[in-house]
Amino acid sequence: MSDLLRDSQSFQGLADNKQAIEIYEQIDNFKRLCESVGKDLSVLGGEEMPDNWRANRVCGRLDFAYLGEQSTAPVLRGELKLALPAVCQRCMKAFEWPLQTTLSLALVRASAADIEDVETEIPRAPADYELWELPDDTVRPIDIIDEALVMALPMAPKHVEMSRCIEFEQAARAPHTMTPFASLRTAMDRDKQN
Ligand SMILES: [Zn+2]
Repeated sequence: MSDLLRDSQSFQGLADNKQAIEIYEQIDNFKRLCESVGKDLSVLGGEEMPDNWRANRVCGRLDFAYLGEQSTAPVLRGELKLALPAVCQRCMKAFEWPLQTTLSLALVRASAADIEDVETEIPRAPADYELWELPDDTVRPIDIIDEALVMALPMAPKHVEMSRCIEFEQAARAPHTMTPFASLRTAMDRDKQN
């Protein structure tokens, strides 16, 4: 049985068929994404680690087509969404960051004779495509998704609503607010002794 997402296929063929692929896959099925997310979460203590985060789903859709009506250059457009398990960089708690990314890729074999033609064709295309070089004429769509998601990972994810962080920040600040009173008491004690 063929698996459009995982099989290595001719990207020319996918474009010929105007192939669409629906995606509803666990993070666990994306090797590099899984590694990156796991590394980001590793700063959390064992109890704070979100349960079963590898089961969160990547949802979306890929569409293969040609660069333009007259073109024979295959392109891939896609939309991906994921409730990304992450660590808030403001309060350092686990949360889910709404990751959303789009792909607009012109697929070309790295050694292809027409690579420059495709490059000059891109600016004239209706959408803004990025050149995506592949080692041969085939592609495993899941590999592209994996790489695109890793590239879309936020550098410093934070709770969207800052109020979610505030409780923790207040707790963290509490010992500091005690300090002036503590030193005041020390000063008063010292006065009494004198
Ligand atoms: Zn936060």
